[in-house]
Amino acid sequence: MRVEFLGGVRTVTGSATLLEKGSSKWLVDCGMFQGGKDLEGRNWNLQPYQAGKLSFILLTHAHIDHSGLIPKLVKEGFRGKVICTKATLELCEVMLQDSGHIQEMEAEWQNRKGRRAGKDEAIPLYTMEDAGKCLQYFETVKYDEMLDLTAGVKVRFQDAGHILGSAIIEIWIEDGGEKKKMIFSGDLGNFDQPILRDPSVVEEGDVLWLESTYGDRLHKTKEETVEELLKIIQEAIAHQAKVVIPAFAVERTQDIIYTVGQFIRKGSIPSVPVYIDSPLAISATEIFKRNSDCFDQETKDLLLGGENPLEIPGIIYTRTTEESKAINEDPRPGIIVSASGMCDSGRIQHHLKHHLWREESHIVIIGYQAEGTVGRRMVDGAKMVKLFGEEIAVKAHIHTLGGFSAHADQKGLLNWLSHIRNPRLEVFINHGEEKISMKLGQLIGEQFHLKATVPQWREKKVLFGGIESVVPGEEVKEEFPPGEPSSVLFNHLDRTYKRLRRKLKRGKKSGEGFKEHWLRELEQVQKKLEELEKDL
Ligand SMILES: [Zn+2]
Ligand SMILES: [Zn+2]
Repeated sequence: MRVEFLGGVRTVTGSATLLEKGSSKWLVDCGMFQGGKDLEGRNWNLQPYQAGKLSFILLTHAHIDHSGLIPKLVKEGFRGKVICTKATLELCEVMLQDSGHIQEMEAEWQNRKGRRAGKDEAIPLYTMEDAGKCLQYFETVKYDEMLDLTAGVKVRFQDAGHILGSAIIEIWIEDGGEKKKMIFSGDLGNFDQPILRDPSVVEEGDVLWLESTYGDRLHKTKEETVEELLKIIQEAIAHQAKVVIPAFAVERTQDIIYTVGQFIRKGSIPSVPVYIDSPLAISATEIFKRNSDCFDQETKDLLLGGENPLEIPGIIYTRTTEESKAINEDPRPGIIVSASGMCDSGRIQHHLKHHLWREESHIVIIGYQAEGTVGRRMVDGAKMVKLFGEEIAVKAHIHTLGGFSAHADQKGLLNWLSHIRNPRLEVFINHGEEKISMKLGQLIGEQFHLKATVPQWREKKVLFGGIESVVPGEEVKEEFPPGEPSSVLFNHLDRTYKRLRRKLKRGKKSGEGFKEHWLRELEQVQKKLEELEKDL
């Protein structure tokens, strides 16, 4: 079993892991890189993803940092299956097309600038049409259903409680006579958040990919966060001002609708206009309404009682640009929820341009702000930010409310991990900024005495099931870079030898005896060492 870390390592975006068992290859997630030129440059070279040779993409959830490169991969020859939950498929339908639209707009904008500078024509990463085409490869799976993926590989999706349809993916693999279980945490949900269930508990596994977005901090509780939001809205109403909330179209927007709805229902605030200014968020809200089986008990009870927590008095959905522009002409105090969540594209930028310089306005940050984004600069206290090429002064109140996060905090992550009862569990920390992933890895080592590592981008590893990676041939050339092939190969063989010796010892101790294939593997190592000796 070989793996290659293609993305989402030492960064929060671009989640993708390539798994190879013999000649069978598949991906877990296929996310787009976002946040700066260097990272985004990776979106253009998908050669390491081996599009034409992949049989499957197992998709944890619909967020673009997990699904955003699927249309590009299909463009490059992927003809396998994308496996995900029904809600993920429905969300991908709107989110990938929206992403295609953004790519087209960006290319158009580049071209407008580029033509004046005499540059070559920019092409979009993929178009809306490409995004539409990729959907034919999607197949859905139910939560908790055991799926035979291919010979010797079983897969199960469990609720990750992160966004609608999100999943933790468990993979059971038989390879070279060994049976192992891998777990991909995907993005793990925050506990006790509105609408969704808490993340499912997993108790067994040998290798774990654990996300670490908030691996270095603790969120405030839901009660504190809700209380804080209430105070902000009350203050804004008292000053006839507006509250602007940049929110991811999926989940955070619906959480805000749910929470503000509760304020109005309980009479904590009067019925003020609540603008949902994002066509994507509007479509996503419709998808939420269709997938109520994914809701937690509290929300299901509300529905049973005849209340729709996603329909609140005063809510105004704005689809067209004209409607969107009209919002800022409305003199009444109110709430504007718009995307993108990290403020670096979309309609939210217009609202920020309109409100950031006003002292009475409130900007409420509720989601993760990646390095290099406009949202991050505001959170970090910038006095000026650039929007549409114009410097805008930041005078509005900027609030950060962690409790609405779609991600578990440090405590949540460690608590979730603590349920896996395997003292030899190997942990790969992903989906986090480098320092944060390192910190979480260190903590896991200290508290659980587990081997936790933070992989490098494009790092390859042989996890278990033999040493096929050292069989001579094309793949060896890829695996061992020119320059010092012998020492890399030697180290690899040395590690394999030690691993087999440990297995033999363990087998002897536990009375299992030794297994036939271990001997074959030892023979292969020996043969390879002899060859190497000749070369040297
Ligand atoms: Zn996510
Ligand atoms: Zn993510």
